[in-house]
Amino acid sequence: MPLDKYFSTDYASARAKFLAVAAEAGLAVISHPHSLNGPKEEALALDLVTLCPDASAPCRTERVFVALSATHGVEGFVGAAAQVAWLKKGYWKKVPAGVSVLLLHAVNPHGFAWLRRVTEENVDLNRNFADFSKPLPRKPAYEELADAICPKTWTTESRASADAQLAAYAERHGPKALNRAIMGGQYTRPDGVFFGGTKPSWSRETLMKILHSYCTAAKHVAILDFHTGLGPFASGVSYCVGDEGTSSVTKAHEVWGDEAHVMAAAPGSSVHDGYNLTGIARLMSQINVYGNTLEFGTYPTEDMIRAVRADNWLHLYGDPNSPEGQAIKAEIKRMFYPEESEDWKARVLAQSLAVWDRGITGLANL
Ligand SMILES: [Zn+2]
Repeated sequence: MPLDKYFSTDYASARAKFLAVAAEAGLAVISHPHSLNGPKEEALALDLVTLCPDASAPCRTERVFVALSATHGVEGFVGAAAQVAWLKKGYWKKVPAGVSVLLLHAVNPHGFAWLRRVTEENVDLNRNFADFSKPLPRKPAYEELADAICPKTWTTESRASADAQLAAYAERHGPKALNRAIMGGQYTRPDGVFFGGTKPSWSRETLMKILHSYCTAAKHVAILDFHTGLGPFASGVSYCVGDEGTSSVTKAHEVWGDEAHVMAAAPGSSVHDGYNLTGIARLMSQINVYGNTLEFGTYPTEDMIRAVRADNWLHLYGDPNSPEGQAIKAEIKRMFYPEESEDWKARVLAQSLAVWDRGITGLANL
């Protein structure tokens, strides 16, 4: 298949493609090794390629463009394919003067390799950028539903009973409120889903170390973070986190906006706490950060949430190598990566490269 040049079937082959295309282009890779291995004992790392206007010197530009893949591990296939295509198709040779580009392959390599959204700490990296020096957000709705969201057994009967409790909540408060209760991020149940953690994860620490070291002279940083799993099949939406009308969202739209591409403001931290791009902006407050969470749709949200709940149960109480475990792994992969659809892959890759190109131009023109 022609798209196999860019898309992979697992973390190890995605990593091999990234390293090979960087080598073909003559670009050095800096690997930040992870202490654990993948399911086939493969080594894990966050791999970094940097493109600096002056290749012999460290990046000291005022404008830095960053492309992240696999913030949510199992969602890493699209971002990784876009990074490979961006290098393979030679886009990197056309970066405007004065802009540095950082490609971070597999920010959460453990989740990518094990086909999980979360990190090795069972932490949702996109809820882990909370300010841990302050009291963490309380989530009474998650608390109320915790045992139904993540039952300790995953049989037909236990699921039916758990689902009935969730359905009753949706009946009382509406389906959106249920999704918010489950996906909004929580900080009290390490064995639950969408858990933000109690401290910065390895992935957060490593990402911030890289950003701090390459952004010492930066004034403007645009970050493209690839995600999958929400929205209509193969449609991409760019979310710039913040309230509509605020200067940060207006500026982000100036960098990323395009009449051909849907832009949306994801209002406030009240919906999702500990968002990575919001946290990066807070941690690099002297720099203007223009974040873009680029989300590609796959299947209905309720199916995706069920797959995430099953995967959580599997890694806590089940056996990933059993036939049941394999079926759960296949399902969570399909929910975030419909790899059987060449049409889906072609459409998400084309949109990814268009948004990327728009972002670099927007950053250069600020
Ligand atoms: Zn995601």
